[in-house]
Amino acid sequence: MAKYKIEVDRELCIGDGACCGEAPNTFEMDGDNIAKVTNSDGHTPEEVLQAAQVCPVDAIILTDAQTGEKVWPK
Ligand code: SF4
Repeated sequence: MAKYKIEVDRELCIGDGACCGEAPNTFEMDGDNIAKVTNSDGHTPEEVLQAAQVCPVDAIILTDAQTGEKVWPK
């Protein structure tokens, strides 16, 4: 089971693709040029966190899948 529940805030995403560059096995751009999660186990939790942290608008929301605690953005 993936460590993080990963969500993309479609209202915030500006479509720059930074997350896809950082974690291409987890994120891809959809037909509206908004990032979507393709595989929450595509990268290690550290890599997923890194991808969330490069998002310039903090559109990637990470929640601990076990505790429900919000991990990112802080
Ligand atoms: S890094 Fe953020 S703004 Fe850029 S595509 Fe990914 S979710 Fe969207």
